[in-house]
Formats: sequence, structure tokens, C-alpha cells
Amino acid sequence: MIDAFTYANPTRIFFGYGKLQELPALLSDCGVGAAVLVCDRFFAAMGEDLREKTPQIAAVFSDVEPNPQLDGIKETVRLMKETGADAVIALGGGSSIDTAKFAAACACSDKTPDAHFDGAAFTAAKKIIAVPTTAGTGSEVTAVSVVSRGEEKKTVHNPVFQPTACIVDPALTMTVPPRTTLMTGLDAFTHAIEAFWSVRHGALTDALAVEAMRVILANLETSFAEGTKEARTAMAYGSLVAGLAFSVAKTAGCHACSYPLSMYHHLPHGEACAFTLDSFIRLNADDRLEGLAKTLGFSDCHALADEIIRLKTIGGLRMRFADCEGELDIDRLAKESAEHMLMQNNPVRLDEAALKKMFEALQ
Ligand code: NAD
Repeated sequence: MIDAFTYANPTRIFFGYGKLQELPALLSDCGVGAAVLVCDRFFAAMGEDLREKTPQIAAVFSDVEPNPQLDGIKETVRLMKETGADAVIALGGGSSIDTAKFAAACACSDKTPDAHFDGAAFTAAKKIIAVPTTAGTGSEVTAVSVVSRGEEKKTVHNPVFQPTACIVDPALTMTVPPRTTLMTGLDAFTHAIEAFWSVRHGALTDALAVEAMRVILANLETSFAEGTKEARTAMAYGSLVAGLAFSVAKTAGCHACSYPLSMYHHLPHGEACAFTLDSFIRLNADDRLEGLAKTLGFSDCHALADEIIRLKTIGGLRMRFADCEGELDIDRLAKESAEHMLMQNNPVRLDEAALKKMFEALQ
């Protein structure tokens, strides 16, 4: 029997290879008058090119850093106010999209970005148009912004961060380097499996999560090794569908652990999620997960976990603390992971002692 569930995702989705060419028309469709485009340095030239071709783009901020900082948000807000922008367009990976989300909300507030980083509530945001260039974060369909001030990285949830629309154009992902392709692809897989096993899952998020996992497992290796148009397109779709699943069901243990792993061992987000992914598949294994493993074509959960290890190995991702930067403090990692709010969504209750055991096995 199907249990009761609630599902909503108000972001309009425009998907298709080459779809970005329709940007001016899609912006008009979304009622955008004037916008600031936000990207990182890799997309600076494309951002300027889009500004020339798109009457709605009034200014470009092209200095987003990975683990986006408040400084970039402040500059984006300044440009939005200066140009009277009613929208922000994010062209890039999760870092650019999260910068745009936070800036869109700060542009509607009298308080400073610092005050909001310290917890002041948001009440509204300008329109947000997300154009992802990695197949990973799903940020184009979530109400989450992950931003940093110095070393302090915060995940802020607020309905005002939900993008008005997203343009998912797989052509934009063709230039992602192989290792980043693998890391971001495993980020997307982690979103899907965590949405599936989250205590907040429902029938619809399960369907989305299974579809995402099926597509990602079938295309990640080719996307990494050959970068074909077909595999990249499938991965952009898989990442989007995983985003739709976890935007409602939320993530769980792997993501809870990823924050201290990124902070103390400087692992990029996707690599940090993948670091514990196979461990969590084994720890969370139950009848439901065994059924999922079989649906995905594996004999059991251990075979699925082994496939994750194989993918991490071909991508050269770090799998042991001995290969990571930073001083290892397992007690601190276990404590901070156990206390993270996302750990409450994990289907198996894992306390500090259980997490300590998991981290010890990864030395
Ligand atoms: P990113 O945006 O930090 O980009 C990583 C690198 O890849 C950068 O150097 C960038 O220039 C490069 N890059 C991006 N697209 C490229 C392309 N098409 N061609 C060549 N290079 C390209 O990476 P990401 O993994 O997309 O985002 C990670 C961030 O997103 C983290 O801060 C993470 O915490 C956050 N995140 C947010 C959500 C959410 O729902 N808001 C979900 C997951 C992760």
C-alpha cells in the first residue's frame, strides 16, 4: 500500500541540449526585466557573450569561488541594486547557483548579508534563474543555499531560495574535467540514494530517486571516461531528477558527514559525500535497500557498495584519511556528524560511537 505523501517543487524546468540559446525568450517567459548574471572565472567569457546577446542581462559578476564566500554575494547584491535588477541568473556549478540564491534574497532585505549568515530570517527574494553547468548538486531545484564566511560553511534552508526557473542544458557540462565529472556524478547519486532511504521519503520521491540512480549508474562511467553527448545529457537529467527527489525527501548520513569532512580535510563536496557513501550503504542495508540493489541490477547491497568503490577508484577519488589533507581527529568528526541535523534523516540511528567505528575503518 502507498502511504500518504506531500510533494511540491515550484521551479519551472527547461531541459534540452542547446537550450541556453533560447535564454532571452525564456527570461521573457519568466517575466524577467533586468538581471545580474553570476558565474565563476571559467564562465567569465561566456557570461560577457550572453550579456551582449541578451537584452535582459544588465551586469555580470564573474568571480564566484568554490565554497562561495559572502564577499561574492555582497558584490552581486551591489550590482543588483545598482542596475535595478529584478532577477539573478546563475551560470555555473553549485557554487554559482548558491551565490545567486543568497544574493537574490539579500537584495530584498534591509539587513546585511552578514546578519543573514548569522541567522536573520529572509522574507522574500528576487527571481532566481539557475543554469547548472555540472551534473551534480541539483541546486537548480532546491530551496537550499550553501555559503561560507571564511572557514565557516553553512547550509541555509529557506523557501525563498527556490529558483523561479532552471535551464538545464547538458551542452554546458561537456567541458567538465573527468575527475570533477565523477565527483559531481557521485554527489548526484548520493542525493538520490539518500532521498530513497531518508526517513522523509514518500512514493513519489522514491520513484524519482530510483529513476535518477538507474540513469546515473548507467552513464557515469562513460561520462567520465569518454564525455559523450549522450552520457552527459543523461547525467544532466539524472542529476536534475535526483534534485527533485531530495528537494522534498532531504538527504541523510552521507551529507551530515560531508560537512566536517570538507571543513577539516578539504574534500570538494562530491568527493566528501562519496567518501562515506559505500559505508552508509552497508550500514543502512535492510530489506528495502536490498530490494533497491536488486532493482538496480546488483545481487545485494554489498555489490552496490562495491560498485561505488570501483567508481571512486577509476576516478582517483580519495577513499582513506591517509590520503587526505588535515589532521585526523576521529572523535571530532564523529561528534559533529552525529550532531548534524541531516543525520536525523538517516534510516538507522547512528550515534557517535557507531560513526567513530565507521571513520576508524577508513583510516
Ligand atoms: P562548483 O560550482 O564549486 O565548481 C567546481 C569547479 O568546476 C569550479 O572550478 C568550476 O569552475 C568548474 N566547473 C563548473 N562547471 C564547469 C564546466 N561546465 N566546465 C569546466 N569546469 C566547470 O562545483 P559543484 O560541485 O557544482 O558545486 C559544489 C557546491 O554546491 C558546494 O559548495 C556544495 O556544498 C554545494 N551544493 C549545494 C546544493 C544545494 O542544493 N544548494 C546541493 C549540493 C551541493
